[in-house]
Amino acid sequence: MAAARARLLRGVANGGGDCSRVSGLSGLSGLVAPAACRGLGGAAARARLSSACRSSSSSSSSSVSPQRRSVGTSRSFSGTAASRAAKLTTDSYPGLTRDSRFSKLTPGHVAYFKQLLGQDSAVIDGINADAAADIEPFNEDWMHKYKGQCRLVLKPGSTEDVSKILRYCNENMLAVVPQGGNTGLVGGSIPVFDEIVIGMGRMNTIHSFDDVSGSLVLDAGCILEVADQHVAQQGYVFPLDLGAKGSCHVGGNVSTNAGGLRLLRYGSLHGSVLGVEAVLPDGTVMDDMCTLRKNNTGYDLKQLFIGAEGTLGIVTKLVVQCAQRSPAVNVALFGVESYQKAQTAFREAKLQLSEILSAFELMDGTSQRLVHQVRGGTRPLEGDHPFYCLVETSGSNGEHDYEKLEKFLEHVMSNEVVADGVVAQDATQIKTLWSWREGITECIGHFGGTYKYDVSIPLPDMYLIVHDVKARLSEAGLVGDTDDHPVVDVVGYGHMGDSNLHLNIAVRRYDKEVETALEPYVYEWIEKRRGSISAEHGLGLAKKNYVGYSRNETMIGLMRQIKTLFDPNGIMNPYKYI
Ligand SMILES: Cc1cc2nc3c(=O)[nH]c(=O)nc-3n(C[C@H](O)[C@H](O)[C@H](O)COP(=O)(O)OP(=O)(O)OC[C@H]3O[C@@H](n4cnc5c(N)ncnc54)[C@H](O)[C@@H]3O)c2cc1C
Repeated sequence: MAAARARLLRGVANGGGDCSRVSGLSGLSGLVAPAACRGLGGAAARARLSSACRSSSSSSSSSVSPQRRSVGTSRSFSGTAASRAAKLTTDSYPGLTRDSRFSKLTPGHVAYFKQLLGQDSAVIDGINADAAADIEPFNEDWMHKYKGQCRLVLKPGSTEDVSKILRYCNENMLAVVPQGGNTGLVGGSIPVFDEIVIGMGRMNTIHSFDDVSGSLVLDAGCILEVADQHVAQQGYVFPLDLGAKGSCHVGGNVSTNAGGLRLLRYGSLHGSVLGVEAVLPDGTVMDDMCTLRKNNTGYDLKQLFIGAEGTLGIVTKLVVQCAQRSPAVNVALFGVESYQKAQTAFREAKLQLSEILSAFELMDGTSQRLVHQVRGGTRPLEGDHPFYCLVETSGSNGEHDYEKLEKFLEHVMSNEVVADGVVAQDATQIKTLWSWREGITECIGHFGGTYKYDVSIPLPDMYLIVHDVKARLSEAGLVGDTDDHPVVDVVGYGHMGDSNLHLNIAVRRYDKEVETALEPYVYEWIEKRRGSISAEHGLGLAKKNYVGYSRNETMIGLMRQIKTLFDPNGIMNPYKYI
């Protein structure tokens, strides 16, 4: 009987109670934290972690003192094997041609920017000198899939700087690429040719936080984790969380409309972003910094910047509605025998945990085997299960929440929906369990690269695509254990609570034969099920040619008109999006 195999520990974070066994189930002595990712850290680390958010001296309603603000990068990530050099995007995609309307950078242009930005460190000048090594991190993406030929990086320190830069670029037909933490997974933050990179890392001030309403006013270049830790001190939570939290910027998050791990609880950024300040390509500052939740005064223009991926302008400031941080958090991880049973478990979780359910994540057995293979350590559950689910509850009453979770787990185990499971005992174990989910993106890239498809599919069919893609690649002889085969394995995981699957193909190298087998096959598959080819990562360069699989001609036409209205010269992040 399944229940007899269950190993559950009671756990309520933040002092929520003693460890005790769930009635009728045998106990487990605790989780063993896995060793750190082997071979991924140290010199291989590519993440550029900006300095902590600066404190603003401006008068504000915030009651947070700078001293109380902590700087956290605990969940910053290291890149995959750094020895791999990405191919130039223009070599990988020879069909791309430089738009001849754009000017080539001259020493005269650079002199203007140097005079404008003042300090040397705000301009990386590859026009007058060889600055290839300094520019390299801005020219290559996290997956080592895209590589640009940018020779000038500008780091504005204020909205006024951004405005002057864009006005000048627009007048001189210089193309630009806004860049936040450069953790994007669709090549949106990387130039294709010689576009200027505008790095937002210096604009990292937290301006104010209203601890009554929960509205946070901050610069676009603030690191997500720093913003979250800032509001945590007031008992609030930033309404977005994702694995790249220690490096990505809130401006990048908004520009990609990132979804992340707790969209199930806090909803999309379209709901929690209350205000946006953005600079348009001609230098106009669009100030829509409303701090209120209700504002129906005409068209809601800020929404256009949420998910625009730097194609309409540069987001410089934000107002974000933060939620009350839950004092009691529980996390359980369990193994299930089939995708069908994972769906049943999700249904039961919604039914029984309702308002305290804050995340429901799905991981297939292959993803967990690969994470284990790459970083070692002790797995939370014994043996291999075809699927794993991570359930998180967050609420205000630890005892009450735990009772609900206990009842839910007893139910799914006694009904043999769940084969085996553990519940984290304390905050450290919560982090450990989450690491088996959050570590997937990084670990599967370890073998050489990843073809990533971030898609929404109606739940009944969601995992089917992983089987179909694996069968297709296997039939083509592309999957195998040796170097002759480009594909290591096909993996499916993601935010089950949002019908959002990450279909990832772990490869030893990026290979046109693999890409041709995958595209447009994957997009056609999704179109047939009326899914979305871009659930949360955006379009970037990766999906530019495939928008038609999820949007009709009328909508694409309207998008093009909006782009032309905001950016008639097309200088903002060219060659991408639509
Ligand atoms: C380990 C890992 C886990 C991830 N998990 C998730 C996840 O769960 N959910 C999810 O949605 N994504 C996830 N991502 C993808 C990525 O982290 C998000 O897309 C994130 O929002 C990108 O933020 P960034 O600051 O790194 O933006 P960048 O990568 O620098 O830029 C992304 C896009 O936004 C534009 N941009 C950046 N800043 C601005 C600005 N200020 N104004 C205008 N345009 C701008 C860029 O031009 C580019 O098109 C993950 C990535 C990694 C590496």
